[in-house]
Amino acid sequence: MVQHVEARGGKVVTGAAVKQICLAEDGSVAKLEMADGTEVVADYYVSAVPCDVFQRLLPTQWRELPFFAATRALRGIPVINLQLWFDRKMASSIDGLAFSRSPLLSVYADMSRSVREYADDDRSMIALVFAPCTPEAGADRNWLMQTDEDIIDATLEELGRLFPAEVAPDARTAPPQPASSRLASLRKFSVVRVPRSVYAAVPGAGKFRPSQETPIDNFVLAGDWSTQKFLGSMEGAVLAGKLASEVVACKAAGVPTPNGGARVATDEPVPADAPEVPSAPGFVGNSPVAFGGGQTGGLVHP
Ligand SMILES: Cc1cc2nc3c(=O)[nH]c(=O)nc-3n(C[C@H](O)[C@H](O)[C@H](O)COP(=O)(O)OP(=O)(O)OC[C@H]3O[C@@H](n4cnc5c(N)ncnc54)[C@H](O)[C@@H]3O)c2cc1C
Repeated sequence: MVQHVEARGGKVVTGAAVKQICLAEDGSVAKLEMADGTEVVADYYVSAVPCDVFQRLLPTQWRELPFFAATRALRGIPVINLQLWFDRKMASSIDGLAFSRSPLLSVYADMSRSVREYADDDRSMIALVFAPCTPEAGADRNWLMQTDEDIIDATLEELGRLFPAEVAPDARTAPPQPASSRLASLRKFSVVRVPRSVYAAVPGAGKFRPSQETPIDNFVLAGDWSTQKFLGSMEGAVLAGKLASEVVACKAAGVPTPNGGARVATDEPVPADAPEVPSAPGFVGNSPVAFGGGQTGGLVHP
């Protein structure tokens, strides 16, 4: 994709944070102010930042427009991403992503079977999503604030229920089992907390997803949370990008845009428990969490 862009005279810049969307007098985008102090001026601006970050970048002047006001109803769901390296191969794991019946673990995969970079005939590496992990998402406590060891032990207890012959609840602390045993011990682990991941697909949320076309002529939305047929996912992000590029291409060619123009499927007010509007536009701090990402170690972001 980078080659495609560069071959046509474009430039791909990564690791460059947008600090502020600056508006012209007519409310359209005049330029982007970047975190390093530089400015970007363009014909069209496409935003694919996560929904929570978007609320922080949304210019004050746009907040009252019903189209943008509706987006406040969407917020990222907290999850914890775990990687567990075991000292032997789990015979019953499969090649692919598995959905779990555990109330704490949503999906998992044995990366040693399903991902070439982690291939290992002798030892499993399980990657999994620990969710729900906060009371707002349905957990009995705020797991984001627990220690890594507590999170891992709760995970091993759940894995022990799913794979009783292969994982013991004390796999983190117990001494390695004899070679004849199928019970795996944990060699190492990592815990990545993602306080705001994909938009929470709770009942009633979908109708607040905005179209890629916005009421601002030179501003287009992409990202998995903009409206398209998939939930927040990689397929959804790709499809949203395609729909956004259609809007830009039609505008640039001066032909009608597809999919019915700028719209949100409802004019209902956002639910009363929607997050507060940030007092002033702009991201806070410089941690991965400020940009919708996850981080290892305790949460340092406010
Ligand atoms: C733990 C976990 C497991 C998942 N597993 C799966 C899976 O198995 N299958 C699947 O389909 N999906 C999965 N997903 C969801 C999938 O990762 C997302 O739906 C997808 O990455 C969304 O893509 P996106 O481009 O919309 O947003 P993102 O990938 O979130 O990209 C947004 C980008 O915006 C950047 N950004 C933020 N703020 C700024 C700023 N101020 N200036 C400039 N850039 C900024 C961020 O750095 C980031 O690069 C998973 C998500 C998580 C958290």
